[in-house]
Amino acid sequence: MKHYDVLIVGGGPAGIFAAWQAGLRYKRVALLEKNAILGKKMLITGGGRCNITNIHQDDALIAGIIGNGRFLHSVFSQFNNNDLIRFYEQNGLRLKEENKGRMFPITDKAQSVVDTLASVLKNAGVDIFFQCDVHNITTDIPMQIKTNSIFFTCDKLILTTGGKSVPQTGSNGSGYQLAQKFGHSITELFPTEVPLTSDEFFIRKKALQGLSLYDINFSVLNQKGKPLVTHRYDILFTHFGVSGPAALRSSQFVVKQLKKQQPVQVMLDVLPDMHLNDVQAWLKKQDANKSLKNAWKGIVSERYLLFLIEEAKLTESTPLKQLAPKHIELMAQLLKGFVFTVNGTQSLEKSFVTGGGIRLKEIDPKTMQSKFDHRLAFAGEIMDIHAYTGGYNLTVAQCTGYVAGRHI
Ligand SMILES: Cc1cc2nc3c(=O)[nH]c(=O)nc-3n(C[C@H](O)[C@H](O)[C@H](O)COP(=O)(O)OP(=O)(O)OC[C@H]3O[C@@H](n4cnc5c(N)ncnc54)[C@H](O)[C@@H]3O)c2cc1C
Repeated sequence: MKHYDVLIVGGGPAGIFAAWQAGLRYKRVALLEKNAILGKKMLITGGGRCNITNIHQDDALIAGIIGNGRFLHSVFSQFNNNDLIRFYEQNGLRLKEENKGRMFPITDKAQSVVDTLASVLKNAGVDIFFQCDVHNITTDIPMQIKTNSIFFTCDKLILTTGGKSVPQTGSNGSGYQLAQKFGHSITELFPTEVPLTSDEFFIRKKALQGLSLYDINFSVLNQKGKPLVTHRYDILFTHFGVSGPAALRSSQFVVKQLKKQQPVQVMLDVLPDMHLNDVQAWLKKQDANKSLKNAWKGIVSERYLLFLIEEAKLTESTPLKQLAPKHIELMAQLLKGFVFTVNGTQSLEKSFVTGGGIRLKEIDPKTMQSKFDHRLAFAGEIMDIHAYTGGYNLTVAQCTGYVAGRHI
């Protein structure tokens, strides 16, 4: 049996930051991680490059944390994305900014981030127990922690076991049951930042599979066909539906809308900077003797143009001069608003982020402590907070981890 002042369960970014801060304040601090390494999920973030945070400030940062970001005002007043950037630079890891404010390590390797964090934990005197899977916790004084190997007792506890997405990284939702031992409740879990599925004929016949459309407006429509939300980003057509940042960002809205209607309509505007009338005028004024395919070349990628020509029930070899005005109108409308249906998302296990988690009303936003038992705190994705991709989720994990470890 081993006794610690503070135990942290889960060696992802939230747990590492919590352990670091607790380690600066208490003598005996240990981090328990079921994997044989730290930050297994962190290593696959940002395509293995780790999009560690985002440079957007204040309200823009909170706006990126679409699921309950407002809970984090107090956290960010104590430790925010600027502090994170400073933290890494002070610990010898320089970061660089990429498009839309996304920050990456200059090494382009997530491993260098995890290595930096491991040395910070070492300097703070934190013991790490790997392959240590916490099975059960009792709320006695001291708390008793049953694992697959060692039996622990502790005075304080921080749960940072993550969500339920990509469970092969270790975050399989076991932390929710541990929190329930203290009377905590879990809001409904759902996949977010996840590709959308569609059984439209053009998807099933893989007409656009592999095609990316860049910098477009992607909207989720309500029952009246009006946009609920629009994201200007890229998409990628796949064999099952649509992926890419715009689709991922829209997924949580699709999940919610699917509760009201089945299937849900989405709309692509591939010329977001042009008005419908201008698109129509452009289509009309091209060389009338050329075939549609050649006359309209360049307005969008050829594969998408030919797809829309077919959707408009036109033939690519028809000379432009043979088109009636209503056909040009239809083509302009398709370019500005091609509507198709999605019938779901990929599973929670395949999602980048888990929506839902420990109910925030039960957590003190200044300290991350449980309102039911002050010996307990939470940080990271285990809580009912989720964000868009772009470095926001790791920002949440690291900053809430910092605050939880500082106040425990
Ligand atoms: C493919 C992918 C790419 C992503 N890319 C980005 C990105 O570039 N930028 C970004 O901001 N976000 C990204 N995310 C999201 C981000 O990785 C998570 O939000 C973040 O890792 C959550 O941190 P966490 O510490 O709360 O949980 P996790 O990182 O999930 O860590 C939880 C840890 O707890 C351990 N654990 C769980 N249960 C137990 C138990 N019972 N006993 C012991 N240990 C336990 C797990 O093994 C795990 O190591 C990505 C997610 C995925 C899946």
